[in-house]
Amino acid sequence: MTDRNQSAESPALELSRLSVAYTVRGRDLPVLSDVSLRIERGEAYGLVGESGSGKSTVALALQRVLPPNGRISGGHARVAGKDVMELGAAALRNMRANDVAMVFQDPGKALNPSLTVGRQMAEVYEILGASGTEAKDRGEAMLGRVRISDPARVMASFPHQLSGGMQQRVVIAMALAKDPALLILDEPTTGLDATIEAEVLDLVDTLRQEFGAAVLFISHNLAAVASLCNRVGVLYAGKLVEEGPARALFSDPRHPYTAGLLRCLPRAGFKGGPALDNIPGFPPVPGSITEGCVFAPRCGLAEDRCRTDAPPLYDVGDGRGSRCHFHDRVDDLPRMSEAPPVNVPERGPNVEPVLKLEHLSKTYKLPGNRNVQALRDVSLTLDP
Ligand code: ATP
Ligand code: MG
Repeated sequence: MTDRNQSAESPALELSRLSVAYTVRGRDLPVLSDVSLRIERGEAYGLVGESGSGKSTVALALQRVLPPNGRISGGHARVAGKDVMELGAAALRNMRANDVAMVFQDPGKALNPSLTVGRQMAEVYEILGASGTEAKDRGEAMLGRVRISDPARVMASFPHQLSGGMQQRVVIAMALAKDPALLILDEPTTGLDATIEAEVLDLVDTLRQEFGAAVLFISHNLAAVASLCNRVGVLYAGKLVEEGPARALFSDPRHPYTAGLLRCLPRAGFKGGPALDNIPGFPPVPGSITEGCVFAPRCGLAEDRCRTDAPPLYDVGDGRGSRCHFHDRVDDLPRMSEAPPVNVPERGPNVEPVLKLEHLSKTYKLPGNRNVQALRDVSLTLDP
């Protein structure tokens, strides 16, 4: 069997007890502790959790691109069967060039503002070994594959001449050009509006099936994760507190933190829907909780035991795990807050709108005397 075959059988990503620390003013802050997870080839895995829980750190550590004050303090990360801790400089470059690709939140920052999209697409193929014209042709063809309907125009454009959604398509095209085993998307749609977000997520799902790449999808947006991912991991204060198939985990959470996150979601999607709840308090400073469960200080189910015994990852059946002593009592989690009523004054003749648009139109001029009409005759008012 060749090396290639061997690596094709290994999971796209395997983290075993991965721990990461950042050094700040001479002190080590542990931000990931003993994170273990596995993403099979072609699988989509969602990583969710509050801001600061360590999601991006997972993505950076597994490529060994942590900032200078960050280091892997324990455990292993294997990408397509390769242990990234063991790779020498050349093998590491090779792994980053071929096996893994990353798409960030802000496509504008991922693209070079001073080069045309065509030049940047061609460069990706040049790095992969193609020559001038071939690199350009392959770049243009890849834009077609990410459903850009006018690849020639986009190739000739500078990034600022494209919408955010279009820019993100270009970044995804660049990521897929190397046919990676693992595609990491770190909040890829946070900067996009809702309809564009839906389009981009749909595109990622289609491309995953076409390209067979595994996806690590990092997001605050639980609805997006539910629609895109097979399995989900919930990260809290650098620990994986719950893991399982997406559908089961979202419909029947087995960790109070997951339940709390779900109660923060506006289910009905409009004002007047079921009252939202929140999770009281704030995530702990990394490394500040050394005993018991990291979530205990904010948990409505916590008992004395939770403050002294750190729960293991309990196997709760059906491929699910929960790091909660009381994983079978999550349905009893009390409400944490009452949603305050919102007072909206009655509309009347004496109410001056805060914002009033009347017949607003806006046109952008593109190279070659082409115009895009971005707004056409828009009128609206917004009351206090
Ligand atoms: P977000 O949802 O806001 O993107 P995240 O889950 O991606 O958050 P990380 O960016 O991985 O979180 O950060 C995890 C923890 O590490 C946070 O407490 C953060 O403040 C800290 N941290 C991140 N980068 C550094 C750094 N370079 N130096 C010191 N601490 C850092
Ligand atoms: Mg992040």
